[in-house]
Amino acid sequence: MLILLALVSAWIALAQELSFAEFHKNNLRNSLSVAEQSASNLLRHFNGTRVPGSKESKEMQDFIKKYFRDVLNNDWSVETDSFEENGFNFTNLVFTPMHGESYLVIAAHYDTKIDPPGFIGAMDSGASCAVLLYVAKFIDHILTVDKDLLEPLLLGSQVGLKIVFFDGEEAINQWGPYDSIYGSKHLARKWEKLGILNSIDLFVLMDLLGSKEQQPVHSYYRSSHRHYAALSQIEDWIGGTQTKWLDPAERKYVQLNDPIIDDDHRPFYEAGVSILHLIPFPFPATWHTLDDDFDNLDEGSIQKWALMMSQFVLDFLRY
Ligand SMILES: [Zn+2]
Repeated sequence: MLILLALVSAWIALAQELSFAEFHKNNLRNSLSVAEQSASNLLRHFNGTRVPGSKESKEMQDFIKKYFRDVLNNDWSVETDSFEENGFNFTNLVFTPMHGESYLVIAAHYDTKIDPPGFIGAMDSGASCAVLLYVAKFIDHILTVDKDLLEPLLLGSQVGLKIVFFDGEEAINQWGPYDSIYGSKHLARKWEKLGILNSIDLFVLMDLLGSKEQQPVHSYYRSSHRHYAALSQIEDWIGGTQTKWLDPAERKYVQLNDPIIDDDHRPFYEAGVSILHLIPFPFPATWHTLDDDFDNLDEGSIQKWALMMSQFVLDFLRY
C-alpha cells in the first residue's frame, strides 16, 4: 500500500512537472521575445516611453488592465491607486488572483524617465514588468487546471498573491527622497492605513533585469536570505545562461543588511516588511542612457527570469 501511495504521488508530481513544461514550451518564447511582433508578445509593449501622466502611460495602464481582464481566465481583482503629486498624475496597478491571511507581493515599476527624451527603459524596468505579466499567466493557468495546487501543502494558512506595477519610480528632476519612488511611497501609506502592510510575508522587487550584461544579483537582506537561497536553487535547476546570477555563499552585501540601493522597496522596508530585492549590482552600463533599449536586452535572460519567478511564486504559495 505504501509503495502504491509513493508511486501515485511520484506520478502526480511528474504529471505536474510535465504540464508546467508544456505550458512554458507553448508560451515562453512567444510571450517574451525581443524581435517578435505578434500580439502574444508581452515584451514588445514596453518598447516605448511611459512618462507619468502621458498618453503612452495611459495606454500602458489600459494594456495591463485589459490583459488581466480579457487574456487571463480567472477573476483577478484590480486595485487602481491614482493620485497627483508635483503636477503629475501617477497610477499604480495591483492585481490579486487569490486572497490569503498573508501575502506574497511581487513588483516592478512601469514608468520611464522624462530625461533623456525618448528613454524607453527596456531593462528599467520594462523587462521585469513583462516577466510579471508572464508569471501572472502561469498562475492563471494553474488556477484554471489545478486550483488546489496553490493551497499550502503542509498545515498552514493560505498565502495570497499581489502583483504590483508601480508608477513614478524615476525622479522628475533629480533623484532624492522627495523626488523619486512616488508610486511606492503612496501605495505603502495606503496599505498601512488598510492594514495590508502587516500581512506581507515577503515583498519581491525586480529592477534592471534582462540586460545583455550578466551582472551578479546579490542577497541584500538577512530577513529574505533563505528566499534568495531558494531562488538560487531554482536557478541551478533551470541553468540556461553562462554565468550564474545568484550566489547565497557570497555575503558581502547581506551582512550590511542595509538598503544600500534606493528603490521602490524603501517605504515597505522602513515599515518593517521583509524585502527580496532582485537587482544587479553594479548596474548595467546602459543604465539611464538611451542605450537602455531593445538592442541591449537579452531574450534568454528575460525568459530565464520568467521561469525562475514562476517556480518561486508557486513554491512560496505552497510551502
Ligand atoms: Zn531607473
